[in-house]
Amino acid sequence: MKIITTPDPRLREKSEKVRVIDDEILKVIADMRKLSLDWEKEHPYELSAAMAAPQMGVNKRIIIIRDDMEDKNKATFTALINPEVIKADGKVRKDYEGCLSVPFIYGMVPRHTKVRVKAKLEDGTEVRIKATDELARTLLHEIDHLNGILFIDHIKDDKEAFYEMNDKGDLIPVDYDKKIAGNKKLFPDD
Ligand SMILES: [Zn+2]
Repeated sequence: MKIITTPDPRLREKSEKVRVIDDEILKVIADMRKLSLDWEKEHPYELSAAMAAPQMGVNKRIIIIRDDMEDKNKATFTALINPEVIKADGKVRKDYEGCLSVPFIYGMVPRHTKVRVKAKLEDGTEVRIKATDELARTLLHEIDHLNGILFIDHIKDDKEAFYEMNDKGDLIPVDYDKKIAGNKKLFPDD
């Protein structure tokens, strides 16, 4: 199991619903937790906030969300199965996003700041989540993955929206014309 990156076509597929939460599904979730933390060990300036199953090449509707997005020492994740956005509203705000599957590129992505999501937990319990701000953004980013959408798609034509990380961990603007426009790795269908 490993994290796949653009332009792997599995990142662009619509994932299928989980019908039964069996051992195979629980194994997928365990692998996602492990991969997220393995990735974090190799990225000292970043926190692995969340992940979607297609990012390891499994096109099933499963995401995991870090329970504490601030503290690297608290490394637990909640898994959400078949998560669905019931409503996204509130102000649209831009903020930085990165993705395990889009290496070295970050973006200022506009998202709604309020979201309602319904999903199932690992034990089958149905939950409804009301989220705002960072958690809302994370949920929208991850649920996008289940529909084959990446954060870069939302900012594709915005020359000011792309960033990269320097070796000190600071985000600096990317030369859009050189590195983004017509980049087949990011946008293979163009
Ligand atoms: Zn992502």
